[in-house]
Amino acid sequence: MFDRLDAPQPLGSGLILQPVGLAVLDATGVGKRIRELGAPIRRLFGRVQPSGRVVLDVTYGPGGAEGLAVHRGALFEVLLDEAKAAGVEIVTAHEVAGASYGRLEFSGGKTSAKFDLVIDALGVRSLLARAKPIPPLPFGALWASLDWCGPFDPNALEQRYERASKMVGVLPIGRRPGATQDQAAFFWSLKHADHAAWLATDLDQWKDEVLKLWPETAPLVEQIRRREQLVFASYAHGTLRSPLGRHVVHVGDSWHCASPQLGQGANMALLDALALSRALAAHSAPQDAVMAYARARLFHIRLYQLASWMFTPAYQSDSAAIAWVRDWVMAPVSRVWPTPRILAALVAGAIGSPLSAIEAIRDG
Ligand SMILES: Cc1cc2nc3c(=O)[nH]c(=O)nc-3n(C[C@H](O)[C@H](O)[C@H](O)COP(=O)(O)OP(=O)(O)OC[C@H]3O[C@@H](n4cnc5c(N)ncnc54)[C@H](O)[C@@H]3O)c2cc1C
Repeated sequence: MFDRLDAPQPLGSGLILQPVGLAVLDATGVGKRIRELGAPIRRLFGRVQPSGRVVLDVTYGPGGAEGLAVHRGALFEVLLDEAKAAGVEIVTAHEVAGASYGRLEFSGGKTSAKFDLVIDALGVRSLLARAKPIPPLPFGALWASLDWCGPFDPNALEQRYERASKMVGVLPIGRRPGATQDQAAFFWSLKHADHAAWLATDLDQWKDEVLKLWPETAPLVEQIRRREQLVFASYAHGTLRSPLGRHVVHVGDSWHCASPQLGQGANMALLDALALSRALAAHSAPQDAVMAYARARLFHIRLYQLASWMFTPAYQSDSAAIAWVRDWVMAPVSRVWPTPRILAALVAGAIGSPLSAIEAIRDG
């Protein structure tokens, strides 16, 4: 496994592992360890300000289904330990610039040995997937990991909106391995085009804007003393027609990336990884295995990429009309049977039965 970083390390704050993603971690044998570190999530909840109207209220549904919000560091360290224990050789400080007939080309001119198959897990800016990067979506967000405190539900993702153009959110993310303090991921929606202006704005002025939208975030906002505590994450949306290239197969964001509004990206990457490993175990020829992998994942990926594309503007857009539709059409409909069950299944990552499709590889 090659990575460009000097030492393996996570980037960013926290994310929600949905029930399908947790099922993959259970299948990998690390489910128990990650559950000890993360925060169970049972509800996604949002109010529009200043009215306080509830416009998002999704619970995971019957049967005790729940998500698990984790610090990226926790997920990363658990997976890294497991990879090391499995004997994976990890080669750091190698930036992949290309691949040709199973050989990786690194920045600086070195090349790797020849592999039967290259698995491209380089993420959204993978040069193996696209010659040119996908342009960012208009909105991204500032993210920080802060000490958990304040009057927030310890088992919910909570958000406050002003129309769809402003959003602040709090997500409990548990703790990193070895730490005792629970943390919260705090995020503030910000347009890509406004990032430079934000960097030039006084931090206190920005904090006042946040507190005006959601005064109860004061104990979290107080912890932000330096701008560097906030990392700007830009989002992109795109799907390769096929995950198969010449001696290369794409998994995760390099195949399909989306804004995190539906909270599915890491789960989809985990499902891809499980599907590919099952396919490689079931087929001796790599070309048969990658075809089986693509078949098992295509439907679920197309479905969720479409859903993410449709839902993202309801939470991040300048359009007053879209915010109106969210507040006065989507929110009331979301309370009428059977919509709550459909939304619960959508958020859980379960629509399209991705795990059954992966099980079918094993059988076939
Ligand atoms: C702010 C934010 C919040 C999110 N929240 C959620 C959520 O709640 N739930 C969820 O499921 N998903 C969420 N996601 C999406 C999720 O983070 C991604 O879908 C997931 O990390 C994709 O995993 P990946 O392994 O494909 O790529 P990545 O996690 O991006 O990993 C790519 C790896 O490749 C390495 N690399 C990159 N380029 C090179 C190169 N040229 N050479 C060598 N190494 C390289 C990187 O160092 C990194 O280790 C969120 C994303 C963002 C940005």
